[in-house]
Amino acid sequence: MRLDAVRAEIATSARAAGRQPEEITLVVVTKNFPTSDVEHLAALGVLDAGENREQEGSAKASEVLAPMNWHFIGQLQRKKVKSVLEWASVIHSVDRLELAEEIVKRVVGREQVLRVLVQVSLDGAQGRAGARRSELSEIASLLATSPMVYLAGLMAVAPLGQDPRAAFQNLQAIRADFIREFPGALWCSAGMSGDLAAAIEFGATHVRVGSSILGSRPTFG
Ligand SMILES: *Cc1c(COP(=O)(O)O)cnc(C)c1O
Repeated sequence: MRLDAVRAEIATSARAAGRQPEEITLVVVTKNFPTSDVEHLAALGVLDAGENREQEGSAKASEVLAPMNWHFIGQLQRKKVKSVLEWASVIHSVDRLELAEEIVKRVVGREQVLRVLVQVSLDGAQGRAGARRSELSEIASLLATSPMVYLAGLMAVAPLGQDPRAAFQNLQAIRADFIREFPGALWCSAGMSGDLAAAIEFGATHVRVGSSILGSRPTFG
């Protein structure tokens, strides 16, 4: 496990960008890795784990006894929202109005506020994950109507085959507008194993790192 090396890379990248390492939360992406790895991470002080499938996340969340904030980072189907809300405390990947609608409906009666990020597409391509920039305001406004939702910020993935610095610079501009409209939505979930330094340079507050900590992903049941 290369947790210390990744923590050091985050700290170095933060300082290089004139930021404090403490401003950045490491979400370890445990998808495809077994529950025992999550327990090991918890023993090493990791408090945030990311999963991208409802069933797999739900199974691990029920097995891990250590305190863990579970982040849902994958493409979400409307019919899975209800079950994701049973174990996740953060959803990063709301990219459609119908998902926001379903979340607002399903959070009623929750004990804890659900943190939600709106995922924005940085390549403008149709059919890929992420809302268009022009859709962000409407999705976020709907989420913000619920007292049980904390509209936390934006999430993005750098498009494959493009310079991540250009992509995250674009994200920084999108985010500046977003924060003007939603002043409390200060989180920025961006950066994975291959591009976390670039994401931190352009303002990421949450990096989602899997393979550079846990190795290449095995297939999971
Ligand atoms: C798998 C995944 C990650 C982690 O990717 P690595 O390259 O293994 O660090 C981050 N974000 C999302 C949305 C993912 O699906």
